[in-house]
Amino acid sequence: MLRLWQDAGHGGSDPGATGNGLREKDVNLAIQQKVTARLKGYNVELGQSRTGDATLSLTARTNAANAWQKGTGNHLFLSYHANGFTDPTANGYEDFVHTTPAAASVKAQDAIHRRVAAVFTKHGRRNRGKKRANFHVLRETKFPAVLLEVGFVTNPQDAALLKQDSFLDEVAAAIVQGLVDMYGIKKAATATPAPTPSSGTHTIASGDTFWSLSRRYGVTVDDIRRANPGVDAARLQIGQEVRIPLKDGTPPPKAAPAPKPAPKPKPAPTIRAGSRVKVKQGARDFNGNRLASFVYGMTYSALQISGDRVVIGLSSGQITAAVHRNNLILV
Ligand SMILES: [Zn+2]
Repeated sequence: MLRLWQDAGHGGSDPGATGNGLREKDVNLAIQQKVTARLKGYNVELGQSRTGDATLSLTARTNAANAWQKGTGNHLFLSYHANGFTDPTANGYEDFVHTTPAAASVKAQDAIHRRVAAVFTKHGRRNRGKKRANFHVLRETKFPAVLLEVGFVTNPQDAALLKQDSFLDEVAAAIVQGLVDMYGIKKAATATPAPTPSSGTHTIASGDTFWSLSRRYGVTVDDIRRANPGVDAARLQIGQEVRIPLKDGTPPPKAAPAPKPAPKPKPAPTIRAGSRVKVKQGARDFNGNRLASFVYGMTYSALQISGDRVVIGLSSGQITAAVHRNNLILV
């Protein structure tokens, strides 16, 4: 059993470090959300400084964590940050404990560092080492505390990785693996039977997408689309039933009401340089890479357009991604 407090650094009116179209506060929260999702089912109790884009003082963070602490069992405070520096070549991963750390903080830093630094070095980024500093959240938290700096938003290569959902997933998985190593936390066995490939229908639960269903049932996203004409993949509702086709792509034999003809696709929106746009939920970038989830919540400017390839970014001119114009919504 572990009680884990997650502290996504910055937020609200404080973006933290910025660079290459990234705001540190978004990266920090994305890491927290991914760790939270991965800890589902584990014997871990969670608390957090913020769940959304809230402005919080450092004192508010440590006061809340200290008030949340109970009993003598394992507690850990993890503060998520990303770095920024005037020299854009500075890159890589580092983490911190206090200058006079508790032994348990040092052990937790060791465990998490070993896993997370390996992800960064695998991608050619620097391992900047295990460090100590007199940071407020490390000094004032009354239980073991570690602060992670998951790369530099000011470094173009680090930033490119931090914009990829798959990279954030790798970092979150490494953090969870560090917790498994240190505390021996386990996933409780679930009674849910494994789904069969042709189970007919699936009731949408939180977080389900056509993409996740395709992986779960071993069919392609296109097959699911074809089996569900008229269902907007971007607007799935919890509790909604979608049909899961057989692996060869044919819809399941016991058909629900006759499928409605698919609505005529709307013509691609006319996006011009300077247009204000949002990225469609779940869309990938122009090269097919997954985007970090916070990208879908933001409004960007179309900075450059060549054919169907639209470079989007902040109005300051900082580039975030290149996206197919069909994956953009004019706002
Ligand atoms: Zn920070």
